Amino acid sequence: MVKIGLKFKASLENIQELNSKDENFRWYLKFSCSGCSEETDKWNYLSLNEVVDSYHGAVSHFVCKCKSCKRTNTVTIIEDSLKAYTAEDEGTFKTIAVFDCRGLNPIDFKSGEGWVVKAVNNGTEFENVDLNEGSWSEYCEIIKQPVSVDDIEHSFEKIKYQGLNNKC
Ligand code: ZN
Repeated sequence: MVKIGLKFKASLENIQELNSKDENFRWYLKFSCSGCSEETDKWNYLSLNEVVDSYHGAVSHFVCKCKSCKRTNTVTIIEDSLKAYTAEDEGTFKTIAVFDCRGLNPIDFKSGEGWVVKAVNNGTEFENVDLNEGSWSEYCEIIKQPVSVDDIEHSFEKIKYQGLNNKC
């Protein structure tokens, strides 16, 4: 089984942590069908809060019947894979989410809204931050400094599934 990791990179100014921990956070992705390579033309979103009808008994956050080959494909967010992007990660790629993709390959990602951004030195925690424009800036009244997120980049990587059976 292969899972797909979303690697995220950004420049942070006076920010301790950028995370997706809000339960209404949406992951915006485009996919291609691994059966026939048909690509979805619009953005799809996945949210931990929105479980789609279980398929083969497994939880899914996205189900789509391919227009071309008619296969039913699913994607599930692996909840314990979700990671914050922190000041220590700044400027480097970090895997912040892993998706269990059955029959679909993610081909594009956009950072939407719903991010939680915490300023350094116990500064303000900003909720529902919108990164649709690819950058964001505010002023933190607690630390009396500007805070910003900029230069967002992403990539996908295949992650080999480490099942319990692989443990020594
Ligand atoms: Zn297809």
